[in-house]
Amino acid sequence: MLVFRQLFDPQSSTYTYLLGDERGGEAVLIDPVFEQVRRDAALIGELGLRLVATLETHVHADHVTGAWLLKRRLGSQIMLAKASGAEGADRYLVEDDVVAFGKRRLMVRATPGHTNGCLTYVLDDRSMAFTGDCLLIRGSGRTDFQQGDPAIMYRSVHDRIFSLPDECLLYPAHDYRGLTATSVAEERRFNPRLGGEIAVGDFAGYMRNLKLAHPKMIDVAVPANLRCGRPENETGLARDPTWAHLHYSFAGLWEIDPHGLEEHVQDVQILDVREPDEFSGPLGHIAGAVLIPLGELAGRLGELKRDRPIVTVCRAGSRSAQAVTILLQNGFTDVANLTGGMLRWRAEAHPVEGGSG
Ligand code: FE
Repeated sequence: MLVFRQLFDPQSSTYTYLLGDERGGEAVLIDPVFEQVRRDAALIGELGLRLVATLETHVHADHVTGAWLLKRRLGSQIMLAKASGAEGADRYLVEDDVVAFGKRRLMVRATPGHTNGCLTYVLDDRSMAFTGDCLLIRGSGRTDFQQGDPAIMYRSVHDRIFSLPDECLLYPAHDYRGLTATSVAEERRFNPRLGGEIAVGDFAGYMRNLKLAHPKMIDVAVPANLRCGRPENETGLARDPTWAHLHYSFAGLWEIDPHGLEEHVQDVQILDVREPDEFSGPLGHIAGAVLIPLGELAGRLGELKRDRPIVTVCRAGSRSAQAVTILLQNGFTDVANLTGGMLRWRAEAHPVEGGSG
């Protein structure tokens, strides 16, 4: 029986789909997200699945793919469209290609319009299709950057997606309103941009007048995704730290969340890199924290123990990220940044020394 899971990344509102042949069988992931690789790998492990491939619906502009990191952890093959222009994939897909996992198959349909390399993956029995950013639920992907073209998207949707059976369920790459799936019949009837009697000219006019903001991740995500998610700096990835539950950010830092730090507060050195007036100011500080302002850190490394993990802290988490870099450059190994700094520590009601409120 097919194993199917729809996973969500709240940061980018991206859906990742896990499809497995059966419990204990082969599986694929569609559109994995870099920051969620640990989560996805844990689920795949718990279900006893073997990840054979990661499939991209396109080169994303709003998140970095987990393809490279999953290949490294689980040995999966990286697959995406030949037309994507990405380097580092194991297989470049074109129209009518077939991707097998166990006894099941996904059929590849080229559905350009959002980008040149957009693909829709159709399950062998045509009961589900994964439409990426071509057709969204009651919407469509953008056509105003990355080779976007409304006329091409219109043709892709009408010829390559609306031609699937009425009852075929459609799963998009994103939803921003909490919807999870739709069907061909539903979108043909109710999609306000592409359904009903709407003609290609109507759609193009609609899309040209959307006037959406420039996507905030695009300058980081697109170049990274053109490398299939391989970071430029792989140093921090050499081994997974075991001293606390950490997560690795695409920025190349190990981070610890406030809850994780509170659990380990006795075993680590807390290094606060704010200025003295902030340390004793209204936000207060974490009990036992050592104060070394960021500007003085490079000259005062001797005050830190090398045999205990260090968690760096500042107001919101950016100066402390820089402190992590300084420590790593100076041979400290077990170092993590407190995500969100004192602001988040306090917002989540962890104990503070000094401060007000
Ligand atoms: Fe996209």
